[in-house]
Amino acid sequence: MRARRGKSSKPVLIVVLLCIAALAALLYSPPGRAPIASAAALDLFPAEPEIRVLLRVLKTGESLRIGSKPLAVSAAGSQGTLAPESLLEWNGQQLVMGTAALRLPARIAPEAGTRLELGDGRWPGELEVLQDGAVLRLILRVPFEEYLAGVVQAEMGPTFADAALEAQAIACRSYAANQIATQKSRAWDVDTTQLTQVLRGDRQPGRKVRRAVELTRGLVLTWNGRLLEGVFSAVCGGRTRSSGEAFGGTTVPPLSGRECGHCRAAPFHEWSASRDRTEVATALGCGEILGLGAMTFTQTERLASVVVHCQSGPVDVSGSRMKRALGTAARSTWITLLEMDGTLIRANGRGHGHGVGLCQHGAGHLASRSGWSAADILAYYYPTAELARLYTP
Ligand SMILES: [Zn+2]
Repeated sequence: MRARRGKSSKPVLIVVLLCIAALAALLYSPPGRAPIASAAALDLFPAEPEIRVLLRVLKTGESLRIGSKPLAVSAAGSQGTLAPESLLEWNGQQLVMGTAALRLPARIAPEAGTRLELGDGRWPGELEVLQDGAVLRLILRVPFEEYLAGVVQAEMGPTFADAALEAQAIACRSYAANQIATQKSRAWDVDTTQLTQVLRGDRQPGRKVRRAVELTRGLVLTWNGRLLEGVFSAVCGGRTRSSGEAFGGTTVPPLSGRECGHCRAAPFHEWSASRDRTEVATALGCGEILGLGAMTFTQTERLASVVVHCQSGPVDVSGSRMKRALGTAARSTWITLLEMDGTLIRANGRGHGHGVGLCQHGAGHLASRSGWSAADILAYYYPTAELARLYTP
């Protein structure tokens, strides 16, 4: 009996297990895998370009520590190698490095194979120093792909799965290439802050991040044959929003927003913030806050405006202004509750960042838990976008 039962139940068990596996595969297979597979030649640049990164602005009397290795310097036609000095100083008239006064514009390159030590970090590329009225602009000239390795390290980092890092690299490359293409009238393309993309001198790109950048070398997002700005934010909170709603201007279909639902486990998917009522009042220039009135919301439920009853009368405050007034604990304008509670103003909200484009923690989840590729992730967060090659490798 035991042997017969064993023989007859095994195939049934296998069939049941196969059915469960097939069902699981069906449930976890990403929708719409196909649309971003091709990589046509965009050839916006003949070869890998250099990107100009605004590192610092020096005002008169300010100085900055500079590297410990010999530096090759070219300044307004003259060239030479200077011994490393401890300070780069701007006195309003001259750029002084040690005992030498450098004519401007100047270019300072580190010893081959090393990074430029400047301020509290080590930076890729060479330093260009330009005078702009009373200030000096310190601009890094960095090979594009090397810059991207630094940006992906700072913006996402090696704790994320490979496919998420590759998607991030393509998004960052698309954003930065768009900056190079559109910022020709000024002396730099990007800075090192969240205003563009973060680059940090104290975090060097590791092997995992470099691999993601190398695997996607030259790949960018396009829409309708044009370069797409690869905007991204940390946590969308459940739904990404349109670029027009967040930044103004025209919204193209890949940046029109979509449901996410993959960042639920992320920090700040939901958050609470509270701040002293007088501090919020000061931040709003309100005198004293007597009460909060009607709130209006955008299409994607972000706070558009709230009426604040100040001593002098009601004031219409925008959602982004209220977010700033609540302090750093308020992570986005997706504010679901705003109330006065004794001496405090309290807020509940969702998401971290502006919420447009790729949701970084959603991408991380899709890569690590659902096995999505970079192309799947990009097709999901930038629907109808395509991949293209920015230059021939
Ligand atoms: Zn999300």
